[in-house]
Amino acid sequence: MSTGAVLPSVTAQARLRPLDPAQVTILEGFWADRVRINRERTIPHGFDQLRASGVLDNLRLAAGAEGQYRAYADTAGAMLPFVDSDAYKWLEAVGWEHDRGVAPDVAAAADEVIKLITSAQRPDGYLNSFVQVVRGGEPHQDLAWGHEFYCLGHLIQAAVAWHRTAADDRLLEVATRAADRVAQEFGPGGRDGIDGHPGIEMALVELTRVTGEERYLTLAARMLELRGHGLLGEGRFGPAYWQDHATVRDAADVAGHVVRQLYLDCGAVDVAVELGDDGLLDAVKRRWRDLMSTRTYLTGGMGSRHRDEAFGDPYELPPDRAYTETCAAIASVMLGWRLLLATGDSEYADAIERAIYNGVLSGSSLTGTEFFYTNPLQRRTGRTYEPPGHEGRQPWYPCACCPPNLMRTFSSWQQYLATTGDEGLQLHQYASADIDAEVAGQPVRVEVRTGYPWRGQVSVRVAATPDEPWNLSLRVPGWCRSATLTGVDGTAVPVAPGMLHNSRRWQAGDTLLLDLDLPVRVTEPDPRVDAVRGCVAFERGPLVYCLETADLPRSRPLEDFRWDSRRQPVPVPRPELGDDVVGISVPVVPLAGPGDAPGDESLTAGAVPYYAWANRGPGAMRVWLPR
Ligand SMILES: [Zn+2]
Repeated sequence: MSTGAVLPSVTAQARLRPLDPAQVTILEGFWADRVRINRERTIPHGFDQLRASGVLDNLRLAAGAEGQYRAYADTAGAMLPFVDSDAYKWLEAVGWEHDRGVAPDVAAAADEVIKLITSAQRPDGYLNSFVQVVRGGEPHQDLAWGHEFYCLGHLIQAAVAWHRTAADDRLLEVATRAADRVAQEFGPGGRDGIDGHPGIEMALVELTRVTGEERYLTLAARMLELRGHGLLGEGRFGPAYWQDHATVRDAADVAGHVVRQLYLDCGAVDVAVELGDDGLLDAVKRRWRDLMSTRTYLTGGMGSRHRDEAFGDPYELPPDRAYTETCAAIASVMLGWRLLLATGDSEYADAIERAIYNGVLSGSSLTGTEFFYTNPLQRRTGRTYEPPGHEGRQPWYPCACCPPNLMRTFSSWQQYLATTGDEGLQLHQYASADIDAEVAGQPVRVEVRTGYPWRGQVSVRVAATPDEPWNLSLRVPGWCRSATLTGVDGTAVPVAPGMLHNSRRWQAGDTLLLDLDLPVRVTEPDPRVDAVRGCVAFERGPLVYCLETADLPRSRPLEDFRWDSRRQPVPVPRPELGDDVVGISVPVVPLAGPGDAPGDESLTAGAVPYYAWANRGPGAMRVWLPR
């Protein structure tokens, strides 16, 4: 993540600036609940899993202890080399929690992990338990698959979180020494090397923002320029798998492994913003447009192919075979955020909203202790195709990239709500929250109160303001078809999707009321998506809905129903799924079986928010329903 404060001196090119984590306090409602579950259940659960899976013991071995290295090994005996990153992502999550207060047991656990990491680092700065314990200690012998830079990137991100929120620089000292070693070997004039899994590029930019040392930014820019020249070779899936088939500037479309592509483009935006490199930024914007229009699922999920965890061809978006890794949806939030900061365009906040409420949130159970690696949009009755370990929500995974990625995302979520710019304060995502910011060097306090996403009213009260006029901007989401804004004078006017700019000489107590209409929307797919042609999906506000076996009107398979378009779907309360949860009552008709007369008996099935599926036992699910 790259969400905290950035040094203004090196980000003159960004349109918008992030707030510090402590400047936004989520108070109650949907996101307060998710953030609390993450803090109270998911993060402690994560530590237990780090211990049980061997991740912490591996670091102990690197520090000199005796024992057997533990990591998932494939049938050929090849072990996952990147499990250190599980610990780093978990630590990053704990780092972002400091402003809310870290429970003593979690603080003690984090302290233990930090001490382990510190003791595992070699005197020369190198740190990677897999190389140190399994590979004989010779660094950087397998840049294509070894994930050494990738792991360092996550270490840096954890260090940055702790630096910003806890003023605890123990990790930053470790990360800086490790990065210095890499910069010495791979910096300008040194060895040409890039990682098979991007990720370090954005971390290096963050390290420059935190330390003020330009050499990390220079290294990140160099790694970006070196990609696309065949340094990584063909690999198992061809050079596009790791985006080495074309340069970062020239590649027209997203390609290959989804998380790799999106992390790479995160680094490209960060470097472009710091260096004022519009050509590089334009390349990412071009790929993003292609990604949004041809390769993104309704849930904001990305990745159509299991084989290489990759994008498919344009409009290749099968709902049942969707790979849609949780990490990919998270990576799209990270990239959307960077593009939002760089450009100020609300379309990026729209994409963040779609992904976070659907394709990201679905990765965690409502309890916060079970996870999905893949997030398909359909699961058939009696499914057989899912690979072992991917059948349903699991408490952990042999390749555990997703769960701690969710943890750090939710623990930093308040940082995605608002930004500042030269003109004022912008609200991008809605949650009941108090926001303290500075506009033109003067303190501003805004109090947002809302029942979003279940209710569409958002009240924004200015509680502290300078005397000079400034701009309070509110996003009307792209999905919204009807909305009004009631101004300070009490007059309501209709407003359209996009940013609403409200510039005035504010007084404490001034309040804006944004009222977003939340009808159930019946969504048609793009006709070019063959796999769901003739189907519809149901949405309300930012949420995509799905039907599950548990909510069918009679004991027939989910596949045996179609939408009854003669009747309208309507919202209904679903309190058993959480406070204020709104479901949708969907009129359906049973399909005729072989030899039956065509059915037209109108029944009603319940649809639940997609993020809440698979919380009531195994069963079939579908987002797209035949009409
Ligand atoms: Zn993952």
